[in-house]
Amino acid sequence: MPEIFQSLQIVREKIAEAAARAGRDLQEIQLVAVSKTHPPEAVRAAMDAGQMLFGESKVQEARAKIPLCPGRARWHFIGHLQKNKIRHALPLFELIHGVDSLELARDLDRVAGEMGLHPRALLEVNVAGEGSKFGFAPAKLRTAMEELLALGRVQIEGLMCIPPPQSKAEDARKFFVALRNLRDELMREFRVPLPQLSMGMSGDFGTAIEEGATLVRVGTAIFGERSGKTWKASETRADD
Ligand SMILES: *Cc1c(COP(=O)(O)O)cnc(C)c1O
Repeated sequence: MPEIFQSLQIVREKIAEAAARAGRDLQEIQLVAVSKTHPPEAVRAAMDAGQMLFGESKVQEARAKIPLCPGRARWHFIGHLQKNKIRHALPLFELIHGVDSLELARDLDRVAGEMGLHPRALLEVNVAGEGSKFGFAPAKLRTAMEELLALGRVQIEGLMCIPPPQSKAEDARKFFVALRNLRDELMREFRVPLPQLSMGMSGDFGTAIEEGATLVRVGTAIFGERSGKTWKASETRADD
């Protein structure tokens, strides 16, 4: 899959350019290659090009795919985590990007306790204030923060957002700024380090980096358009 090699090169160059524009150290920015809907072959092609960190948004799909990928790949969960999938998700992922409610955080903490794990997590914030989307409203997060930080197992490392789709990357900037400002306020108010900001996708990761992203979640720009369906093991070729 030579196109994946080339696409990755282009994405890396754009990341480096955005970091340079913002005067930021490239070391602070991690690329999460979002492999959802794509087969293990695509993950392997990206690994051949030096990419080791991947993002998946469905636990079912990840459970089927990850065992078929080289063991040195690292995985982040970027989707909406359902309560009944926590037990399967925890051993697979080194970071959960989208903890979007106090209930989910409590459940994660309880299951992690039963499994003897200490999961790392980011809190998803609904920066656009739409009623239908997942995530903490900023005001709700302020009131939930004390309890979130007191959880014995789950370690909160920062914030994440998925702004509404924009026609221009520039239109997403205000949401990235809002997430960074909220993170800065929470750090001051609660005196905790919250180093991670997961923001920016294929259409706007450069803008997100200019505004402080430490994790950009990029799928289409690396792997191409998605069919829309989740990948299933049965779709793997017999000779795979
Ligand atoms: C699918 C997905 C992405 C990647 O989106 P692209 O536009 O393909 O880069 C990033 N973040 C989340 C939460 C996603 O679900």
